[in-house]
Amino acid sequence: MGHPERTVVAGAGLAGFRTVQELRARGYGGRITLVGAEDRPPYDRPPLSKKVLTEGADPSLHADFTALDTDFRPGETALGLDLSPSGPALVTDRGRHPFDRLVVATGATPVALPGPGRQRFLRTYDDALALRALLRPGLRLAIIGAGWIGAELATAAAAAGCQVTVVEAGPAPLASALGAETGAWTAPWYEQAGVELRTGAAVESVEHGGLALAGGGWLPADEVVTAVGVRPAVTWLAGSGIALAGSAGPAGPEGAPAGGVAVDARLRASMPGVYAAGDCAAFESLRFGGLLRVEHWDVALHAPEVVAANITGGDEVYDPVPYFWSEQFGRMVQYAGHHGAADRLVWRGDPAAAAWAACWVAGTHPSPQRLVAMLTVNRPRDLLQGRRVIAAGTPVDLAGLADPATPLKDAAARLSA
Ligand SMILES: Cc1cc2nc3c(=O)[nH]c(=O)nc-3n(C[C@H](O)[C@H](O)[C@H](O)COP(=O)(O)OP(=O)(O)OC[C@H]3O[C@@H](n4cnc5c(N)ncnc54)[C@H](O)[C@@H]3O)c2cc1C
Repeated sequence: MGHPERTVVAGAGLAGFRTVQELRARGYGGRITLVGAEDRPPYDRPPLSKKVLTEGADPSLHADFTALDTDFRPGETALGLDLSPSGPALVTDRGRHPFDRLVVATGATPVALPGPGRQRFLRTYDDALALRALLRPGLRLAIIGAGWIGAELATAAAAAGCQVTVVEAGPAPLASALGAETGAWTAPWYEQAGVELRTGAAVESVEHGGLALAGGGWLPADEVVTAVGVRPAVTWLAGSGIALAGSAGPAGPEGAPAGGVAVDARLRASMPGVYAAGDCAAFESLRFGGLLRVEHWDVALHAPEVVAANITGGDEVYDPVPYFWSEQFGRMVQYAGHHGAADRLVWRGDPAAAAWAACWVAGTHPSPQRLVAMLTVNRPRDLLQGRRVIAAGTPVDLAGLADPATPLKDAAARLSA
């Protein structure tokens, strides 16, 4: 090589920052450059729709790039790769960064809807600060999409006294993530919080002063926030030769559409020396089969450990039980695992009550039935134990699973003992 090894990380969100941290923690002695399109040091996104909105909390990750001996370049956008014979380089709007290793961690960007009216989003710290400044009693706020972000924003806006309407094209909140049957049990939460929820209402366009609904309806609004999902921020890699996952596929059970940089279980892309992690990566899941692109904080936190281990000579596989949490309408909602339409839904407790869980089980009697995913509402202990049961892949006793008084670990132990 004739020079110290150079690792370039594109994207300075949690996954990019964690990659830098983990490389140095593992004693990586090469040069590191971190390129981030936003004009800010790395920060955490989960607080944006929670305490940043409600309390003005600081989401900073407190990165110390001097201590990390890293050339951090805020406000610089990756545009593509230069694969000239002299060696590959990341091309940005400010120059070229030759690399021996490239880590793609450019995350995801919100989907916009058609129409000339102003639509806001909730993805960046700036978005959250702008929204916080807007929320006031009587503001007519239309939120498009009753997914995780829509629900959390509705929670904060209702608490600030706004007149909130959530417009959802699907049959229930969270239907694309959880299925309509489970998602429907969260619909009463909106009413209890004084939020109007309109399901089965597709927005045709965002207009000045409101929303044009399919079928001719009109919803007046002072402000509109579009929260209908995100797409992996990988268009800058088009034509680079790095394989992307098919983008035309159906949404996965987490609601994440296909797409993203296709990586194997070691988080290696199709081009030697290139890795990807976080929201922009579709990784090969040995546990669940196929490519998974998971838009969860936990993935952006831990996948970089595997990237850094493999860059520093290790041979590690990333095979998580995906985990996500959401705080909405005063409830702690948690999801672990991965389920598909063929998996059987088992209720654990009454979903009309304050605390309950939904479990997804694969396999049919008499073959062993295994817990593959779980949603809990105000039952954090279930989630903790359920995540371990999913990871272990032990068969479960359905009667024990359905009984909220039976500890989840016992429902698994009962059969496997
Ligand atoms: C409002 C909100 C609330 C959330 N709440 C939760 C929660 O409660 N629980 C949970 O599990 N998950 C939550 N998430 C999801 C979680 O935050 C994400 O999964 C996580 O942030 C992904 O991290 P990332 O680093 O992969 O991507 P990102 O955080 O998107 O970071 C990618 C960075 O790359 C930059 N970038 C993009 N393109 C380029 C380019 N071409 N060149 C250079 N830089 C580029 C972007 O500007 C961005 O700063 C939430 C997300 C949001 C937006």
